[in-house]
This record gives sequence, structure tokens and C-alpha cells, in this order.
Amino acid sequence: MRNSILISLLCFTLLCTGCTTESTSIENSLDSSINTITNNNENSATRDLFAMDTYMNLTAYGSNAEQAVDKAVSCINDLDKLLSTGLKTSEISQLNDSGNMILSSDASIILENSIKLYDNTNGAFNPLMYPIMEAWGFPTKEYKVPEEDELKQLLTLTDMSNLKYKNSTGEVSFNLSGMKVDFGGIAKGYTSSKVRDCFISSGVTSGIISLGGNVQAIGKKPDGSMWRVGVQNPDSEGNILGVLKIQDKAVITSGGYERYFEQDGKTYHHIIDPSTGMPADSGLTSVTIISDNGTLADGLSTALFVMGLEKASDYWRDHYEEFDAVFFTDDKKLYITEGIQENFSSDYTWNTIDKEY
Ligand code: AMP
Ligand code: MG
Repeated sequence: MRNSILISLLCFTLLCTGCTTESTSIENSLDSSINTITNNNENSATRDLFAMDTYMNLTAYGSNAEQAVDKAVSCINDLDKLLSTGLKTSEISQLNDSGNMILSSDASIILENSIKLYDNTNGAFNPLMYPIMEAWGFPTKEYKVPEEDELKQLLTLTDMSNLKYKNSTGEVSFNLSGMKVDFGGIAKGYTSSKVRDCFISSGVTSGIISLGGNVQAIGKKPDGSMWRVGVQNPDSEGNILGVLKIQDKAVITSGGYERYFEQDGKTYHHIIDPSTGMPADSGLTSVTIISDNGTLADGLSTALFVMGLEKASDYWRDHYEEFDAVFFTDDKKLYITEGIQENFSSDYTWNTIDKEY
């Protein structure tokens, strides 16, 4: 096996600002900004919005583009109202306050996917991390480093055997008071899948969705070529590590650099290792997942970041039909899985993770 590496990614709209240095030749070959592509095209619609604490851009092509984008915006706003932990009235806040609830269909699907991911990733993805996130001050941005004892105590609240869920009714309850769900590691991927469904049900066969740099492509570009998505270089804003050519795929990145604070010269980021309650220190700087399934891609980007390169590579070998990945390590090595090598280009050297050792 050659080993693995690198990164994070951004939709080209975001990439095109501040593009300089080594990867210039690649960046020049990226698509131009979505906003400029679409505004002069009467068979297209584009919308910028801010929801889920994220800047989003939706672009659809075709005769129903305007209607599709309108529907998608209201779908996103509905999901935001349902899932936001920052909104007292959201379904998730009510569940976290009361400890039991009959979930809506959207929240049930997300919870079911989360439970599956928890099982498949040996707990690296854990949807009960909210008490730990609160201890670090991430929800309120009043950051602090919790005491070891406090974390130890709070970790008991993340034990999934204390969550009861009935698939048939959507009924969920917590065995311990203080347990709280956090769909922050999966909700945007689910949202991008819903927006894709919304576009498709409106008859849109070509479109691109960027939720804070996490991308979902619908079909190909109107000119029949594949979408080109840049993988952000975590070390350098606006610079990229490489370009992925995609069609009908989600491309979702997790990286500690996306949300963090510093105290006493140390950096603490928002992706938590559920076995310790500490920011994951797995040797990875970022993980990008490429998959047909946006919900899975989002959950896995978080889980594989926690696992580290070696375990993540093994996980991919067991599930290579479901996704591909790009890894960027703390020692600045870039790795990509075998399945995307034909559709990845970079000015940097990378290693390929093969199916066989
Ligand atoms: P992402 O950017 O998709 O990796 O999601 C990170 C967010 O997921 C954090 O801000 C938390 O809300 C939540 N989170 C943190 N650690 C975990 C974990 N190990 N499993 C599931 N969700 C997590
Ligand atoms: Mg995620």
C-alpha cells in the first residue's frame, strides 16, 4: 500500500478568491464562479443564502430552475428550524430539553443514519457529543478547556446504549438526564441530499450546491462536462491541493481548521474523539469524502478524521464501493483512494491508497 494524505475542499466559487502560488495552473482550469455562470442565462437560477451557520449557494439549470431553487431554499430553512441546537424551539432542542420525543421523518432519518455510522465506525461517529461540545464552549463561542474530571463525567452521557429509538414510530428517549444529540457532523450532508432530491423532483438535471464549501453535484454541467471541485489547502486560504472532477456526487470535507480556538499557545478544534472527549489528534488535518450519498459523506468525513489515516484507509478498503476519500496529514502529505485517481489532479505529489495492501 502506498499511504495516504490530504485535505479539504471547496466549491470553485469559493476557491477562486485569492488563488496564487503553486497551484495556479490547476486553478486556472477550474470553472468560473457559479454566480457569473448563471446570471446571464435565462434557463438557470442561483441563490446565495445563510443558514445552518453557513454561507450557501444553490445553482440549478433548465426550464424549472427558478422553481427548484425556491423549493430548495424553503427546504433548507425548514431543516434549519428543525435541527438547530441554537434555536430553543427546534425539534432537536426540545428533545435535548425533555429527553424524549417522537421525531419527524427528517430527524428520524438522520438519527437512523447516525446510529448506523456509530456502529460501523466503532463509535468514531457519535451523535451524542453535544454535552462535550458545550463543555468546550463551541455552541456559544465562549471557549474553555474543560477539566479532565468534567470530561470523564460527561462522556457517560455519550454512551449510545443509553439512547432508545424505535424505528417503527420514530420515538426516541434518553436513559440519563443531560444526554443531548448533536447532528452537526451529519446535518449538512443530509441537507445537500435533500436539496438534490428537491432539484430532481423539479425536473432539474444539472445543478450544483455548495453548503459552506461542501458540494453536491446534480448531473453534469450544462455543457456536458463534469463539475470541477477544488480541494482546499488547509494551510493556505484560497489555495488548493487539487481538483476533483465529479458528476452526481457529494464532496464533503472535515477539518479541525474549520472551527477552533487557542488557549495558552495550544489549538483546540471542534471534531471530538468520543473515546476521550478531546479534540481528535489523529495526525489528519483534513478529510474529504466523495460519495453518491451526501449524508454518508458528511458522517464519514467526521468519523474518518477521528480515526486517523491508517484506520480510515482500512475502513475505506472495507467500504470502497460506497465512497472515496482525500486525506491531508499534519505532516503535509496528501493521500487519495484508488477509486478517484482518474478524476483527481494536483500540482502536488500524492500517494494512492490501494484496495489491496
Ligand atoms: P464536521 O465538520 O462534519 O466534521 O462536523 C463537526 C461537528 O460535528 C462538530 O462541530 C460537532 O457538532 C459534531 N461532532 C464533533 N465530534 C463528533 C464526533 N466524533 N461524531 C459526531 N459528531 C461530532
Ligand atoms: Mg461531517
